[in-house]
Amino acid sequence: MIVCTRAGFFAGAMRFGGQVRTLTSLKAKVKRSYNQQEAQQDVVDLSKDEPKVIASLVQYLYSGEYNGEFTDVKPVKPLTASELVVTHTEITNRTHQRNYTYAFPHTCPASCQATKVLCPHHICNVNCKGNCRAFICDKCCSPRGSPAQLLNHSKMYAIADKYDVTGLKQLASKNFEFACTYLWNEDAFPVAIDHIFSATVPGDIGMRSIVIQTISKNMALVQKPAIQALITTYGDLAIGVLLKRMG
Ligand SMILES: [Zn+2]
Ligand SMILES: [Zn+2]
Ligand SMILES: [Zn+2]
Repeated sequence: MIVCTRAGFFAGAMRFGGQVRTLTSLKAKVKRSYNQQEAQQDVVDLSKDEPKVIASLVQYLYSGEYNGEFTDVKPVKPLTASELVVTHTEITNRTHQRNYTYAFPHTCPASCQATKVLCPHHICNVNCKGNCRAFICDKCCSPRGSPAQLLNHSKMYAIADKYDVTGLKQLASKNFEFACTYLWNEDAFPVAIDHIFSATVPGDIGMRSIVIQTISKNMALVQKPAIQALITTYGDLAIGVLLKRMG
């Protein structure tokens, strides 16, 4: 079958069992995975890739984003502090000379008439006149991702590398970096590290550098047997952490 658009290429691949004949003007081209014969015929075999990873790749090609949970379900709005992560990093409000609290959800106490700078988008006496009830800023907060996201981002990075989708590599590493800031102590982290250090070539430092940075920042991780096993297995991980610690 002939598919004309870059997105249709992958969507078609799913519908027709992974065998698709493509036109040459596709953004995503296979670099390593197809043999000479396939290259001549311009046929890409997607059947060896995980369906959920392919689905997320298609999602990215359509929307420029993908759901790190690998589901179609839109993440539900978080209701409590433990269900959300603050994604904004701005610290100080210059006008009011105060630090943002990012203390969500926020309900105004009686004294909230005084200037409460919650985030760059909400200052209580300016934006709500002291009437916040369990307020959560959509621009500053996202639902907390599950630990499984760590491996999912790595899989997205690997498939982006395989099909040469540069923008997706950048997005996956950005998503992974943020997930690491609050999921680094999860058992899923060493699982993701193993995937990162085996799924792409050693010279590809996009994800490796984030792992090295995360371990260097949280050296207690080295006490975990699972992390020790990885450091023993992957010499570039060991060297990377040592060099990082040397500064
Ligand atoms: Zn308030
Ligand atoms: Zn905000
Ligand atoms: Zn308010």
